[in-house]
Amino acid sequence: MRTLDGVSDKRFSSLTPKSKAALVRLMCEPSRCLMPHEVAIAADLSYEEAFELFIGLGIVGAVSLYILLYHMCSEAPVDKIPITQGIPRFGYCCPNCGLEVENTDVLELDLEATVLTPIAWR
Ligand SMILES: [Zn+2]
Repeated sequence: MRTLDGVSDKRFSSLTPKSKAALVRLMCEPSRCLMPHEVAIAADLSYEEAFELFIGLGIVGAVSLYILLYHMCSEAPVDKIPITQGIPRFGYCCPNCGLEVENTDVLELDLEATVLTPIAWR
């Protein structure tokens, strides 16, 4: 199994050793899906810090990032889009209820990360 060794980046400099150890545990299983709130709790971070961390982990290639879309028709996400595709534009059709979404303000967004490779910290 490939490990992303020696991750040492300014983006991660504020993480405590305890947070880094929690991340190594969370990311030991390739293909595992992680949500920012779950990482925030496990690694003792705020939601915003976990969100930023996801972006950093995506940039270094440790995870694939997806945008989860929530619509008023469901408690569960109605769509999962690779972050590289960006947020849907006008005329987006909700795959759950079929409603055309004129204004993307009615959609709630979250991130999901799929682990590509375990990490080790420098
Ligand atoms: Zn819908």
